[in-house]
Amino acid sequence: MKRGRLLVISGPSGVGKTTAVTGVRKANPEMYFSVSATTRAMRPTDEEGVTYRFKTREEFLKLVDEGYFYEHAEYSGNLYGTPKTPVEEHLAAGEDVILDIEVQGGLQVKAQTPEAILIFLVAPSWGELERRLRSRGDTSEEDIQKRLKQARWEYTQAEQYDYIVVSEAPPECVVERINTILSAEGYRTRRNMNLLNLEESL
Ligand code: 5GP
Repeated sequence: MKRGRLLVISGPSGVGKTTAVTGVRKANPEMYFSVSATTRAMRPTDEEGVTYRFKTREEFLKLVDEGYFYEHAEYSGNLYGTPKTPVEEHLAAGEDVILDIEVQGGLQVKAQTPEAILIFLVAPSWGELERRLRSRGDTSEEDIQKRLKQARWEYTQAEQYDYIVVSEAPPECVVERINTILSAEGYRTRRNMNLLNLEESL
């Protein structure tokens, strides 16, 4: 059986990553979305076990020691990690897996699984990213500057990603771009070696 494809979506805060990931999942309902563990505080929109599995720092670090995570990283003072076993099981069962993770985690995935498909979302321009962050209205100037600094660093790392996708309205357009990448990845030679078997293909 063909292994599933491992898709990593990263991008700075405010770029529209959550909307893009939600759209990709809707367009590919058979895809497995990996629910991360985190030490960050729950937000009103969060649901335990659906958006994240919420852990204390102590619990999280114990899981790190036990080798529970496929990748993990600290972001904005909180720990985030992808549980290893479900990702491996779904890939082995031939199902595609999508990870919504930040850049340090994305690069850990690439180091362990070179065939993973890493997509970095960017805003149409730097000014537009800043405008999007400000338009949320619920973020202090200090926080905006912090996120912009973080985004600047993320942009410097993004050249190690496989694809850069511009996140512009409407969201369907971003989803379509990501689906185009997924389709092309499906035609990779290494994924279709069975078709080169002279005895079986003709
Ligand atoms: P938020 O706290 O806003 O939900 O997420 C903050 C950042 O952490 C986002 O960039 C998100 O993609 C990233 N993130 C979520 N889960 C994981 C994870 O399991 N591992 C890593 N490395 N980053 C994650």
